[in-house]
Amino acid sequence: MTESISAIDKLLKSLFPINRSITGPGNRATLKRLKEIIPIDVIEVPSGTKVFDWVVPQEWEIREAWIKDSKGNKVIDFEDSNLHVVSYSKAVHIKSIKLTELLNNLHFKKDLPSAIPYRTSYYHSNWGFCISYNQLKERFDEDETYEVYIDSSFSDGSLSIGEVLINGRLKKEVLISTYFCHPSMANDNLSGVIVTTFLTKYLLSIKESLNFSYRIIFVPETIGAITYCAINENIMKRINNGVVITNCGGPGDFSYKKSFDENNYLNQLVEDTFKQKGFKYKTYPFHISGSDERQYSSQGFGINTVSICKDKYYEFDFYHTSLDDLSFVKAGNLKTSLEVYKTFISNLEELIFYDLKIKNCEVMLSKHNLLDDIGGSFLPKSDISKREILQWLLLYSDGKTSLQEISSKTDIDFKILYDYSEFLKEKGIFVRL
Ligand code: ZN
Repeated sequence: MTESISAIDKLLKSLFPINRSITGPGNRATLKRLKEIIPIDVIEVPSGTKVFDWVVPQEWEIREAWIKDSKGNKVIDFEDSNLHVVSYSKAVHIKSIKLTELLNNLHFKKDLPSAIPYRTSYYHSNWGFCISYNQLKERFDEDETYEVYIDSSFSDGSLSIGEVLINGRLKKEVLISTYFCHPSMANDNLSGVIVTTFLTKYLLSIKESLNFSYRIIFVPETIGAITYCAINENIMKRINNGVVITNCGGPGDFSYKKSFDENNYLNQLVEDTFKQKGFKYKTYPFHISGSDERQYSSQGFGINTVSICKDKYYEFDFYHTSLDDLSFVKAGNLKTSLEVYKTFISNLEELIFYDLKIKNCEVMLSKHNLLDDIGGSFLPKSDISKREILQWLLLYSDGKTSLQEISSKTDIDFKILYDYSEFLKEKGIFVRL
């Protein structure tokens, strides 16, 4: 199943104008739109709920915001761009303020003069406007006084999370997480929302043939990931691997961010995927800055996640500005990223796992006739003994380490390991997952 560019484009254009934040009506409207494509369950977590060291915040709603000059002309209007107001700004009405004073609450980027920057103040009560440097120069005057108005409110409500669970043959789950808390910006983060949505649609279409189960979540960044981990603590602690899908819609080259354990096999799978697709790519080591991988990789959860990007956050000039728009992100790029993620998932699905029936120390090889039944003591043209192959398999096959990974760790051919594992299964020592 391949998704049409026009379907991707339609979703992109319909989601782009919505004013999202970490909570609020824009987030519900976004999930409602996604529900037209995939059967998403919406989880509402009430404001004030304690989630580990955090508390689910109050809902923020904004109705109107502007700056007027002394003649009553609106020089900045939230109607024109939802980036104009710092997210989670408190209500304010100042009848007269000089530009020198107003500058304390104005954000702009001198180095990108046509861009409106994106700013937030979730956990510190504040207000502010974001404008382009060109607007500052053209529309504001040092000798002028301004009227400032933000009609916003905070109320007890809830934080909205979208969830889709797909049951494969195995109970073993793969986490697919994306965040949807940014207002009108396309690469960061609508690209992640859109690719995740169509990837979910694809996984549902091949559900019958899936080995892994998939836990797909749409969360507001940081607080949403923390909240989800807190309300699903035991389930999330059992997950080993996943992806955080974000920043994959730009016109630039592919890249990927490694998981916190750089030796985790997931990283190898991403590189294999790029090679299969014939795409050039850049590798970013794991870094503590970034997105929700920080929560999933925390000591309590230890989930290795990778992110495949096309114009990664921090790396493209338009990052967190109004220039990250629909002329920067095109449906064709999103489709290419979707195909990369689909290939990555099919590589993941090929992983084979065996587990030991007897976990405590190595089984007695001679008692089970393992060495006799397998014949010969050395592999032809190899100095690795059959005993060693069995011993490596007995050491690493823990139900979590795939046979592909064991092959990579030991440098023993995958096919040989597979035959030996099947032999151990016949002997009743291994179970295949
Ligand atoms: Zn961001």
